[in-house]
Amino acid sequence: LIDERDAFARALAEWYAVARRPLPWRLRPGLYETVVSELMAQQTQIATMLPYYERWMRRFPDFEALAAAPAEEVLRHWEGLGYYSRARNLHRCAQIFVHMAQKPRSAAGWEELPGIGPYTAAAIASIALGQPVAVVDGNVVRVLSRLTGERRHFSGNAEAVKAFRPLAAALLDSQNPGQHNQAMMELGALVCLRGRPLCAACPVAAFCNGRAAGDAGDLPHIARRATERLEVNRVLCIEGGAILLHRIPEGAKRLAGQFELPLAEELGWKPTGKALASRTRSITHFRIREQIHCLPRAPLPESGLPPELRWVRIEALDTLTLSGPHRRWIRELLAGVQASSIRPETEG
Ligand code: SF4
Repeated sequence: LIDERDAFARALAEWYAVARRPLPWRLRPGLYETVVSELMAQQTQIATMLPYYERWMRRFPDFEALAAAPAEEVLRHWEGLGYYSRARNLHRCAQIFVHMAQKPRSAAGWEELPGIGPYTAAAIASIALGQPVAVVDGNVVRVLSRLTGERRHFSGNAEAVKAFRPLAAALLDSQNPGQHNQAMMELGALVCLRGRPLCAACPVAAFCNGRAAGDAGDLPHIARRATERLEVNRVLCIEGGAILLHRIPEGAKRLAGQFELPLAEELGWKPTGKALASRTRSITHFRIREQIHCLPRAPLPESGLPPELRWVRIEALDTLTLSGPHRRWIRELLAGVQASSIRPETEG
């Protein structure tokens, strides 16, 4: 593959020029656009993040606007994307960046900023600054493992990324590093798909060992963490036009300052009967079943409400940042309760 790298890079570039998706950060490229899109795209599907990206750019069009914005508002514009540390890091990044006399021009310089790891730094440096540094993400690992027919078993993503970094660097088109990196990732996203590569439509099929051997779809071999199942019980409690919410304390590792439906155990209440609703979601390798119980009034602990619990007027919900899918759940549940299609459970 390395011997044929010029022909490989040409075939890839020609395909990318016509097949690439017209994403907003490609149509209106820039350093800020690259930083925002790269951080938003981590752990989020492109289709999911598009409306968030557009809204973000309208409200925070550049580093200066983002740096000057209150943290609460930044988080509210991130709500629904999850992994809020990315929003906090982006905010801090902008605040540091606007005060830097010497703006970082290399991947190593970008890695000094909060929340920017080797992958993101390489993407920013190559795409926005034209630096010849290869990007290696999950898509690139999949493409390279199939092209080379690498059948080694990796213990995790980090090990696989490390193993393929030298090859990615050797194949990089150093005249057009940003385009080349995006083309590799786009190939993984659109053609060299997980489990079912579309080899018949692949622009680099002629270079592919995995395809020739017939087992490309099984590659790469990367050990996955086993899924752990959890069940939690939450409470929907509404009284006099207010809803009881839990505020995640400042200083918490995750989701600090955000609101969510309280856990039943916080109220010292043991769920009885059938839940009002059941929702399932995945966070990293956890599969969590959330049982939401409706109570006509809060079974207050004798000592009063713990400090993390607050009554919030329902019309004020839009001014708060709610964690994960809690706003959607609350909306759906309130609609159900108001339509009286569901009878609240009595206190156990
Ligand atoms: Fe992936 Fe198939 Fe292309 Fe090989 S030929 S890079 S397996 S899509």
